[in-house]
Amino acid sequence: MINDYLIDPRSIVVVGGSNDCSKPGGKVVMNLLNGRYSGKVYIVNPGKKEVQGIKSFSTVNDVPNAELAIIAVSARKCFSVIEALIRVCRTRSFIVLSAGFKETGKDGAILEKDIVDLVNGVNGCLIGPNCIGMLNVNYSGVFTTPVPDYHRSGCDMVSSSGATAVFIMEAGMLNGLKFANIYSVGNAAQTSVEDILAYMDETYDDQNSPKIKLLYLETIENPGKLLRHATSLINKGAKIAAIKAGVTNAGCRAAESHTGAITNSDVFDRALFEKAGIVYCSGREEIVSVGSIFNYKKLKGKNIAIITHAGGSAVMLADTLSAGGLNIPRIEGEHADQLLKYLNEGASVSNPIDFLATGTAEQLGIIIDYCEHKFNDIDAMIVVFGSPGLFDVEHVYNVLSVKLDVCSKPIYPVLPSLLNARREIDGFLAGGNVNFPDEVVLGKALAEVYYSTNSTISESEPLSINSNKIRSIINRCKDGFLPPQYVGELLDAANITRTQEAVVTSKNEMRQELRRFNYPVVMKVVGPIHKSEVGGVVVGVNSLDKAVDVFDNFMNISGSSGVLIQAMCSGVELFIGAKKREGYSNVVLCGLGGIFVEVLKDISACLTPVTKGEAIKMIKSLKGYPLLEGIRGNEGIDQVALSEIICKVSHLVEVAPEIAELDINPLLGSLTKIVAVDARIRLDKQVTT
Ligand code: ADP
Ligand code: MG
Repeated sequence: MINDYLIDPRSIVVVGGSNDCSKPGGKVVMNLLNGRYSGKVYIVNPGKKEVQGIKSFSTVNDVPNAELAIIAVSARKCFSVIEALIRVCRTRSFIVLSAGFKETGKDGAILEKDIVDLVNGVNGCLIGPNCIGMLNVNYSGVFTTPVPDYHRSGCDMVSSSGATAVFIMEAGMLNGLKFANIYSVGNAAQTSVEDILAYMDETYDDQNSPKIKLLYLETIENPGKLLRHATSLINKGAKIAAIKAGVTNAGCRAAESHTGAITNSDVFDRALFEKAGIVYCSGREEIVSVGSIFNYKKLKGKNIAIITHAGGSAVMLADTLSAGGLNIPRIEGEHADQLLKYLNEGASVSNPIDFLATGTAEQLGIIIDYCEHKFNDIDAMIVVFGSPGLFDVEHVYNVLSVKLDVCSKPIYPVLPSLLNARREIDGFLAGGNVNFPDEVVLGKALAEVYYSTNSTISESEPLSINSNKIRSIINRCKDGFLPPQYVGELLDAANITRTQEAVVTSKNEMRQELRRFNYPVVMKVVGPIHKSEVGGVVVGVNSLDKAVDVFDNFMNISGSSGVLIQAMCSGVELFIGAKKREGYSNVVLCGLGGIFVEVLKDISACLTPVTKGEAIKMIKSLKGYPLLEGIRGNEGIDQVALSEIICKVSHLVEVAPEIAELDINPLLGSLTKIVAVDARIRLDKQVTT
């Protein structure tokens, strides 16, 4: 695990250091020597007396001491090298750059496990193997370029992929993004992204720790740890953006319920990010944008002023911001009229504020001042200003640079003329600013940041749910899908309203039961999991004769063990589900029934425990949300009641961790009530963590 020798070593040995800077062993020495490292550097290379001006030893046995070893020899040699370093040099931290381990197959995996055991045996730290190394305030231990200067206010980055870390640095540096600590964990044989995040959390110091963290994750071995430390870091003032690559559908294949079928690993990862307040990014461009947004003042409201001299950019930006749920409010009134007087003929201030191709630096300054001081409902500004190559825009960028500092509202600069205004942009970046070259990329990222970091997590109110009853039912049940009686009892104990129902196994029993029901009723076969698919659901049964016919048909369906009679309800079809995945808490899902969940996969998800605020956010983020509000004469549903049921389901699966899958599909919702008419619950008593 991470130790002081890794972070601040007094001596470093590069095993496999060479003069050939086109090889990792050569480049890492070069970066180390060019960097700010002030401790002792040793090289081990049997064929050389000297490497890049440094004395080279022929074997590890001759090295006087080394607190950190950076290893760039073939995978097969790593074990003996590490073994000797531990014994002779008392080395306790290792960065293994070499590839040829687990990523190559079984034999490589054995080599990898052996070196992990060796390092664990002395309680040491192992980064990699198969990584590019790391960079921090003390040394540059990577074999790649670019090597960004260390900026305490820059971004920390932790990456499962070394190459991706390089590409993110390249893209970011071109925009002026600064970096601090870079960790490439490679195969993460011992130290994972989660471990590094935990270290950052445990050592976080408000004054000195970098606040921005960018993560690239391929697997999340320990989701609980990631959630815990990301939440803690964010609570301390850090901002985290992450790419999670690799969506596995393994868990969905054998699923028997809707919930099972739609919850791939991505649903869990997104829900985890959302719970922690991590901004989810789908690629490099997005994470660079989000990291850049983090550099600026926090966006506290949804109302954006677009300031530009380029009409097209303003239109594209306005479209993107609105699609992401941000507003471009109309600006009008006395102050707007005043502002217009400062601008050229033909300019518009109604937002977008277009001050035309002939707009000047002075005019830009005035517009920004009006947005800052006079237009009270504006929360942030985006300034798009390029150059058609006719004249110098340095003045404009100087004004912008000053305003970025002095304004209390955030201003995001979009300077798109990467060729025409290269010199001016470089000047702007040299002043410590970050540029967003593309307005649409910025617009998307800004909406994502706003909604991920301004969540309304309210305390969970106590729910009227009978936990003892739930436990006693679960203890009586066996693994697998529960029969309807138990499903009904569990919904009752969780205080989730369901329709009146009765299970019957003979016609006589049915006649008796039907006296308690009003026609029409709904009849369903008991036994098969997917009832409609086997012709096992008949709605609108309006007489006893009809019911008898249906009963006979149902008893002939293979696997049938009885008939369920239900009162017939009406309303919007809704869906709530819950699913478990190893290492995560449960995820609770909600959506609209029918094609919304089946075809459009319009669902929202949240990890348990789901608070009322989170449940409301889940409902509002559905694409089909307007239907729940009521549209074109159709009444909507009681959204508060739906949010409460979501919380009750969350509570139910927490009290009964044996519930591996739960699916209430549909609930029928109206403005006065929400009633469950079909539910499936699968127990798996093995999986209770
Ligand atoms: P399954 O999911 O096994 O096919 P459901 O019990 O969900 O069976 O029934 C299928 C459809 O029948 C539901 O989506 C709903 O449209 C309708 N339905 C089921 N029960 C009722 C009911 N009690 N009142 C009104 N419609 C119902
Ligand atoms: Mg159903």
